[in-house]
Amino acid sequence: METAVMVGSAVITGFLYYRLRKLDTNYHRYLDQIKDAPHLSIDQNLQSIVSEAPDNTIPYAVIEGSVEAIDKTLKSEHALGVMGVLEMLIRREHKMFLWRDTTRVISTIRHSVPFVIKDNNAGVKVDDPLSATGLEIPIIHDSFETSMSLLQFIVSYVIGKETKGFQTTEKMLSEGTVLTGIGKLSTSTGTLVLSPPSSADRPYILSDIGFSGISSKFQSNLKLKDFLFISASITVLLFARWLYNALYHGTFKCAKNNKCTVCKYIKESHFLYGTYFCRTIGRITCETSNVIYLITCRICEQQYVGETGRTLYERIKEHQYSVNAHLNDAVGRHFSDCDASIADDMIVQGIESLGPCTAKFRRSKEEGWIRYLNTLAHGINRRHAVGNRNK
Ligand SMILES: [Zn+2]
Ligand SMILES: [Zn+2]
Repeated sequence: METAVMVGSAVITGFLYYRLRKLDTNYHRYLDQIKDAPHLSIDQNLQSIVSEAPDNTIPYAVIEGSVEAIDKTLKSEHALGVMGVLEMLIRREHKMFLWRDTTRVISTIRHSVPFVIKDNNAGVKVDDPLSATGLEIPIIHDSFETSMSLLQFIVSYVIGKETKGFQTTEKMLSEGTVLTGIGKLSTSTGTLVLSPPSSADRPYILSDIGFSGISSKFQSNLKLKDFLFISASITVLLFARWLYNALYHGTFKCAKNNKCTVCKYIKESHFLYGTYFCRTIGRITCETSNVIYLITCRICEQQYVGETGRTLYERIKEHQYSVNAHLNDAVGRHFSDCDASIADDMIVQGIESLGPCTAKFRRSKEEGWIRYLNTLAHGINRRHAVGNRNK
């Protein structure tokens, strides 16, 4: 039982590790490739360095410089006087119904003009900039229009009816922005070009956060994965422990099952009879000793809390005798008064398995349970001074 839960949680943890490791390897590979890429400064010598490389190509390199359009620039549609080389216009529809706002992108328009990354009076043309990752193009304009009047808007907001509006966001990469580019450098046509690398292990990156910013971003992604893995494993282990505890604790019949003259009274459960929340503490069978136990009369559902340092089997045998012989102790008397048959109406359960302990400790535990289950005022237990204490 314990082994099954532990093996199960180990399998789940292993599976999680495998899944996250798979995601991890991409970041590891990217990070290794980025760290290994040579840093080349853009200047008059760069052209000859690249043309001396095989195929006039350096497969993966890092360059840095400021953005400059090759001939014409883009003019912002909304922000006056802003010029740039990359522009994104995003139009979103906002709908609100029953006070829930939903947003839907209606259109995304991208414009770009050819540009170079420039430094020391030399430049590298950037190919296909929109396919690069890592570029956070700054927002230069953001507006919201609605066809509704202000009054209509307020009224429909109050009653939760549909409202509508459009948000327009304009992003622009402006000239002069310092960019770090990581990609394939080639000069086959005579001009230096930065373009997407041929290998899938090498991400094409354009970013304005600098080289150290780029690598720490990849590193923090790795840390996030580690964190996810650790927290997922802890969750699995806690759940396994909870499940194990939930299934381990309880009252169970011994191997002889109903042929055992005591186990035929035992009700197997993780909970005490008549409760849905009060759990048995420990794993209790008729062979358990140093135990607090519970007898329930099925006729009236009144209960008796007892303790014994011997096995539960021996102690229940005594109760069986006193009921059958109509003795005047608490349990014997109750079953007579209730006209209950021991075979049909006695339910035995373990409350708490104490392990090796003194009689004094057992009795204090018994007192606690009598008070907790209230079996003195509303149950079968009698005043503590009365009765045979020599159990
Ligand atoms: Zn038994
Ligand atoms: Zn009864």
